[in-house]
Formats: sequence, structure tokens, C-alpha cells
Amino acid sequence: MLIGNHLSASKGYAAMGRAAIALGANTFAFFTRNPRGGKAKEVNPEDVKKLLLLMEEHRFGKLVAHAPYTMNLCAAKEDIRQFSKGMIADDLARMEYTPGNYYNFHPGSHVGQGAECGIELIAEALNAVLTEEQTTTVLLETMAGKGSEVGRSFEELRDILLRVTLKDKMGVCFDTCHVWDAGYDIVNDLDGVLKEFDGIIGLNRLMAVHFNDSMNPCGAHKDRHARIGEGCIGAEALRRVATHPLLAGKPFILETPNDDEGYKREINMIREWAKE
Ligand code: FE
Ligand code: FE
Ligand code: ZN
Repeated sequence: MLIGNHLSASKGYAAMGRAAIALGANTFAFFTRNPRGGKAKEVNPEDVKKLLLLMEEHRFGKLVAHAPYTMNLCAAKEDIRQFSKGMIADDLARMEYTPGNYYNFHPGSHVGQGAECGIELIAEALNAVLTEEQTTTVLLETMAGKGSEVGRSFEELRDILLRVTLKDKMGVCFDTCHVWDAGYDIVNDLDGVLKEFDGIIGLNRLMAVHFNDSMNPCGAHKDRHARIGEGCIGAEALRRVATHPLLAGKPFILETPNDDEGYKREINMIREWAKE
């Protein structure tokens, strides 16, 4: 079972590796820069080398880096789109210090331009920044459909993927809270939801899972994460997700409101489920 949580990158790469190990994790997520945006810190190759060694020693799975929330490839304003494109290009260049991992981002908010326009703009930006040489796989996150979020349905994600030329560089991150909030009933029909995903996008594109409970009912389009077992999805349904054979081997990232002790407990609980 590959399981971990979001770690702070403020103390560097090796520190994240040590923090993950201390929590019992064997993967983790981190923001490539301050989640609210701003300039990214310079990467220290020595620091990265230490992380890569730790990851090898402790048999880590792929990491799931997260783009800042301020990045919006389908903003209505041209300057925000340009800024966001520069941000993703820079992040992808820095991701090559840790080759072969995942870089996840929220597709964007179309802010009144309509989902179709948003989809076009996102795909256009991806086509401008993806390169044949990159070893990183870029993941579109399934979204709750709050406001004008693009990616609120499997169809919208497919429509982005269809327009991207370098398809091998792309995948999807399945966020349990978001999918539930978007209206996919993973409590009563997980198999049906995965089958639907497979029919529309293809399960071979599902690379990682954001593992969260939700404070709101199915279809609420709210996006408020809850601790595992403390929300509307509940422990039983989430156990079925964590142990589903079609999701085996994918990195599961907790984005639950927790302190370190809480994460340790959740990681441990999910490992126990996987053993049963
Ligand atoms: Fe996210
Ligand atoms: Fe998420
Ligand atoms: Zn969320």
C-alpha cells in the first residue's frame, strides 16, 4: 500500500522524506511553491539526492506534487493565463530534479467563460508547456464543481485529455471528496463509478488518489474535506476504495484536516485495511 499525506516543502526535500518516514508513509505530496503562489525556492541538488536515497531505501512509490491554487490556465484575463503558464513550465522544469514522479493540478476555473472555453484554454496551455523529454506525468485532478471549476465530470477531464498532443505525459488524480461532491456515488456504487471512469477516461489514466472524506453529501459541489470516517462518505466506503483491486498500487494521498498524530493514525488504519 502506497500511502502518505501532504508535507510542507519549507525545510527542503530530504526533510520531507524524513517526515514521511516518521509518519509511516511511503509516498507524499508537496506544494511546488507556496500554495497561494509566489516565487518557487531554488532547488538544492544535494538535498534532492538525499531524498532520492531515502526513497529508495524505504521503497517509496511515486510522489504526487501539487501545483499552487493560484494557477489558473483558463483564467479570463490574458495576463493571469500567461502567468499560470509560466508557473507550470517552471514547476515542470524543477520536477525533473526528482524524475519520474507526478505533478497534479486543479484544471482551472473558467470564471464565466463556460466549461468548453475553459477546456480549450487548459489544453492549449498544456500543449505549450509539455515536452517529449519530460519524465514527469501531469495529472488533472477530479474537481468538486465548486463555482466555475473545470473538471467536475469525467467527461470534462476527457475533453481536456483528448486535446493534448503528448497524451503519454498526462493522467488523472482521483480525489474521493471531490468526486463525491461532484455527484459520483462512491458509497453505494463504487464499482459503477470506476466503470464509468473507465468507459469515459480509461482506468489506465488513473495514476493517483487523493484520499479524503467529505463534510457534505453527494453532489453538494462544496469541497470541504473531512477526516477519514468523520464525513459523509464514511470509513466503510473509504475502506472499499483503499482496498479496491482496480486501485491497487496507486499512491494514496491524505488531504484530511489533521496534525501529525492524526496522519499517523490514518496511515496506520489504512495499512491495516489493506492487510485484511
Ligand atoms: Fe487538489
Ligand atoms: Fe485533492
Ligand atoms: Zn478538495
